[in-house]
Amino acid sequence: MWKCPKCGRNFSREGQGHYCGKIETVDQYIREQAEEAKPYLIEIRRMIREAIPEAQEKISWSMPTYWKGRNIVHFAASKKHLGLYPGDEATTVFAGKLADYDVSKGTIRLPYNKPLPGELIAEIVTWCYRRYAK
Ligand SMILES: [Zn+2]
Repeated sequence: MWKCPKCGRNFSREGQGHYCGKIETVDQYIREQAEEAKPYLIEIRRMIREAIPEAQEKISWSMPTYWKGRNIVHFAASKKHLGLYPGDEATTVFAGKLADYDVSKGTIRLPYNKPLPGELIAEIVTWCYRRYAK
């Protein structure tokens, strides 16, 4: 693991080439991720935008974020999975439907070797929107 001293991001290879600056948009965020992760990021973004079109898209906590008066849900790429961050309450409410996934306090890990559960993602982010949007 190598941490870039300029932007503070972590990379697997020392001196790895990257966009060394603040990520400002979701397009930019997706462009910066590993090739393996990109199709999943593009797909989950489409699913979330379709489910909650009124939410504003932004970067918050360095992650793609859907916002309406406050942060509703985030997602982010990890090495082997895509993380969806709907918060503690949502992962508790949807625990029964998330039995096949690795879930811990407010985080759902969606592995790259499985198709994304589109209907479930739409259901969860819609629930979050109804609950948290201001
Ligand atoms: Zn950097």
